[in-house]
Amino acid sequence: MTALRLDGKALAATMRLEIAAKVAARTVAGLRPPGLAVVLVGDDPASHAYVRNKQKGCAEVGIVSTRYHLPATTPEADVLRLIADLNADPTVHGILVQLPLPGHVREDAVTLAVGGRKDVDAFHPENVGLLVAGRPRYYPCTPHGCIELLRANGVELAGREVVVVGRSNIVGKPLAVMLMQKPTAANPAAADATVTVAHTRTPDLAAVCRRADVLITAAGRAGLITPDMVKPGAAVVDVGTNPVGGRLVGDVAAGVEAVAGALSPVPGGVGPMTITMLLDNTLRAAHLTDG
Ligand code: NAD
Repeated sequence: MTALRLDGKALAATMRLEIAAKVAARTVAGLRPPGLAVVLVGDDPASHAYVRNKQKGCAEVGIVSTRYHLPATTPEADVLRLIADLNADPTVHGILVQLPLPGHVREDAVTLAVGGRKDVDAFHPENVGLLVAGRPRYYPCTPHGCIELLRANGVELAGREVVVVGRSNIVGKPLAVMLMQKPTAANPAAADATVTVAHTRTPDLAAVCRRADVLITAAGRAGLITPDMVKPGAAVVDVGTNPVGGRLVGDVAAGVEAVAGALSPVPGGVGPMTITMLLDNTLRAAHLTDG
């Protein structure tokens, strides 16, 4: 078997056309364009690359993005002051603070400072709470991107065994919540799946993974998922992005494509979908604020 390629790049391109059309319709209606403020503290090269890609995505769909690049030595109070200013700025609908932050700037303090309506990453506890309660304001970008990628490729989720490897606040945990929930009008991305979350203390990861009709790996460990861990025909989504020898590889080892029924590539799988979901959230933020 050679797995169907879950092509996130192609799907993202189609979805961006739809977002661009909605942004254009807002302009025709006399509304201001959606605005995204991107805050970058320090000089981490990977963070700079992520921010570049996010701003490129904004430009593609007509979202006005503004980058605030602060030196790594910026005191936490100054970062919080900038966020407070952005919260008060009516041209800014979404605020994204690129992680990781320098050690002296507390991630928790920054996450709490971003106003709930402008929190297009959906990291604020208010938005996490709404998601868990089944009334999401925003879906977190990477989990939403994974679910859209599977759905668009006809991979059924309702009632199926889904294994998520990883339990982070950014990927694994909210993804598991979305997958297990019952879909409603207020929560359309919910997937009605039977969900298992595996992590570093899972004793027999291979056995757990082999149960999966749909296996989503977000461990950040190159080569973690080997062919013997995959049920023949299963759909595999590789969220991992691991720098190895100057390029990015996923968590999935070579050979899985011969066992899986579908597999997302790295790069070109979840990455472009994550950015597209950010664009979608920014459009939603504009809609929530300006109508
Ligand atoms: P994280 O380090 O916060 O969490 C990793 C999780 O994986 C932890 O919960 C840990 O328990 C689990 N884990 C680690 N090693 C394991 C092992 N050997 N066996 C079982 N579980 C294990 O990372 P994160 O922020 O959730 O990101 C995970 C990966 O996804 C990283 O490679 C990151 O770069 C990537 N990522 C990609 C995108 C994208 O858009 N493509 C977005 C976010 C994160």
